[in-house]
Amino acid sequence: MLTQEDILRLRADFPILNEKIHGKPLVYLDNAATTQKPVNVVNTIVSHYYNANANIHRGVHFLSQKATEAHEQARQEIADFIGAKNSNEIIFTRGTTEAINLAATSFGEKFCSQGDEIVLSQMEHHSNIVPWQLLAERKKLKINVIPISEQGELDLNYLKNILNEKTKIVAVAHVSNVLGTINNVKKIVEIAHERCIPVLLDGAQAIPHISLNVSGLDADFYVFSAHKIYGPTGIGILFGKEKFLEQMPPYQGGGEMISKVTFEKTTYSGLPFKFEAGTPDFIGSTAFAAALKYVQTIGIEQIEQYENELLKYATEKILEIPEVKIYGNSKEKSAVLSFNVGKIHHYDIGVLLDQQGVAVRTGHHCAQPLMDFYKIAGTVRASFAFYNTFEEIDFFIAALKKAVKMLS
Ligand code: PLP
Repeated sequence: MLTQEDILRLRADFPILNEKIHGKPLVYLDNAATTQKPVNVVNTIVSHYYNANANIHRGVHFLSQKATEAHEQARQEIADFIGAKNSNEIIFTRGTTEAINLAATSFGEKFCSQGDEIVLSQMEHHSNIVPWQLLAERKKLKINVIPISEQGELDLNYLKNILNEKTKIVAVAHVSNVLGTINNVKKIVEIAHERCIPVLLDGAQAIPHISLNVSGLDADFYVFSAHKIYGPTGIGILFGKEKFLEQMPPYQGGGEMISKVTFEKTTYSGLPFKFEAGTPDFIGSTAFAAALKYVQTIGIEQIEQYENELLKYATEKILEIPEVKIYGNSKEKSAVLSFNVGKIHHYDIGVLLDQQGVAVRTGHHCAQPLMDFYKIAGTVRASFAFYNTFEEIDFFIAALKKAVKMLS
């Protein structure tokens, strides 16, 4: 396992972790919202702007070809990282949200018609609800919702029973951004595939924490954002199996995605460019790949193991505080701790923690249906990354105790 010495060495790659907030050392526990960026990612952005900036594809000049090569190399490295068979199956998007909008719009256009059904779950982020609702309104579809237990686990028997010949897709989170539940996505894919129904997995919260192989999982679509895994903001991917992407129509029109344009008829590029209208974020893509390389040098299994220990420690410590209620107690859980303390408003706790330098997130975490299930307005959420230390957890718990005392 990563030792505290390893962690201290790795922390040096993240200059922001030395910041003082309100005169106190920063304890950054808002990693599920976005992760901090290591020096190699920031340097990749800087060096590409300084040395390799030219618009990609179709350029005959040296710099354009250099930038194109770096962008396509990044696509290949992302494909390798997630175990995709072919880099054509990696579509660059602005992030998870755009990837799901692309999938819902384009898949829905091709494969869904009035009366068809889509399956989501109670624990989805709004990004994996609203795009499907927009589609459902447009095409008059029905949305079925997999319920969860009090512990925050999906009811897979319900899923088995609800699937029918009208079900066109199952779209669920790999890991919940509120509960930390690691869903049994292998089983979900198996259940859906028994009935030849494709599955989209929202991997936004899985990608920084657990090793992924989309081919092994047999996922049909998988989406995530670079900024959740130490990469830049504004870029992410949709992985889709070629057999679906080939049949799906373009999502946006413009340059890059065409083969031939006339006013009478336009034909489109092949994969992946059919889905990438306009100038892509070719600087972001190289920084994205640099972030994945950084994670690979540490080892995702090592990260997972260490974060599990952090979560276990934080959970034990927080439960020492009277009236703490943790939301999300599934057997398989990732590095997220959502909680409330008695009747104290989550926002007040967040403000008092901030004053002590501790950054957590408060509110509904873009999961209002999940808040409705627990009959709460929101929670405090501490979310961990491998650069967090046990000492920081102690500091966080002490700060929380102080906040609770002031608010009680
Ligand atoms: N899905 C999940 C589970 C998330 O946690 C998030 C962001 O927190 C998203 C989707 C949306 O990601 P983005 O805002 O990067 O598009």
